[in-house]
Amino acid sequence: GVEIRLAARPDGWPKPENFTVAKAEVPAVGAGQVLVRNLVMSVDPYMRGRMNDTKSYIPPFELGKALEGGAVGEVIASESPDLAVGDVVLHGLGWREFAVLDAASAVKIDPNLAPLGAFLGVLGMPGLTAYAGLLKAADFREGDVVFVSGAAGAVGALVGQIAKLRGASKVIGSAGSAEKVAHLKDDLGFDEAFNYKDGPVREQLEKAAPEGIDVYFDNVGGDHLEAALAVANKGARFALCGAISQYNATESTGGPNLFAVIGKGINMRGFIVGEYSDVKEQFFAEVGAWLAEGKIVARETVVEGLENAPAAFIDLLRGANTGKMLVKL
Ligand code: NDP
Repeated sequence: GVEIRLAARPDGWPKPENFTVAKAEVPAVGAGQVLVRNLVMSVDPYMRGRMNDTKSYIPPFELGKALEGGAVGEVIASESPDLAVGDVVLHGLGWREFAVLDAASAVKIDPNLAPLGAFLGVLGMPGLTAYAGLLKAADFREGDVVFVSGAAGAVGALVGQIAKLRGASKVIGSAGSAEKVAHLKDDLGFDEAFNYKDGPVREQLEKAAPEGIDVYFDNVGGDHLEAALAVANKGARFALCGAISQYNATESTGGPNLFAVIGKGINMRGFIVGEYSDVKEQFFAEVGAWLAEGKIVARETVVEGLENAPAAFIDLLRGANTGKMLVKL
């Protein structure tokens, strides 16, 4: 089968040369294992961090080896009593056509519940990130004014919609194009939205939120975090989810001055989605119901072909996606 390997660690922005498309022998299926043919895989911003040779909360990808990541596929051979041929599973060995893995590390999903891509987006890791990040890390309360950056992406689009459904008094989003801003306002029900490329984030945020913000859900860092600190109300709560404006930076940008955290008594909480596995069931029930009732819009940007996965990943970092970026095999 075909797999995508990390050929060289990117220095700054990843390039096509950092990846190779290779043919690999499909390993034998051992006892307790299954062979899965992948149908759809995820590209995620966190993968950029794993391409660096630095210690983080997950180990770096290995050079010359297939990349890994969320994927949904069909079991085509099974040496486990727990999974049968024909079962559809969610697992962590994306970036390849065929995956051999322990049945215990695959989660059987119900393909009738939602389109397969949803298990990598709105009902998957990004969905839980949005849900737990907003409700737990940011301690969202009814009536809050909420600002979310990266608002037209997989996580951000859900943060804004969940905040509205849970009774936010106002939801403001920022994104990188006029089309995305229109999507936020027209399709997702954001009260205010702006294109951060149109002018200083702080000025645009002040205009959108003259009453200040109570919650900031940060996907971007840098100037967005700085603006949120300036516009925050007393006792505001910040969920620090990501800092995508920094992921390809080759030198330090200094970062925002955190003095406002003191004077305003801002509560900042960084989090990794993995720490909220106890919220998973509640998340799946509540967001699943909203999705079924048509109360949540979960746009996807789908790239066809495993060989185009590196380009999809690079495009994700550049903002080519609206909603969840997926690769269909
Ligand atoms: P998205 O679907 O939001 O895709 C990334 C988006 O980031 C792009 O579409 C682009 O949109 C935007 N972007 C890229 N560069 C910049 C920049 N310099 N300034 C502002 N926006 C930029 O990805 P996800 O929803 O999967 O992830 C969103 C964030 O959440 C990321 O920071 C990610 O690392 C983080 N994350 C954290 C988790 C955790 O456990 N803490 C778990 C999952 C995600 P645009 O056109 O608007 O620029």
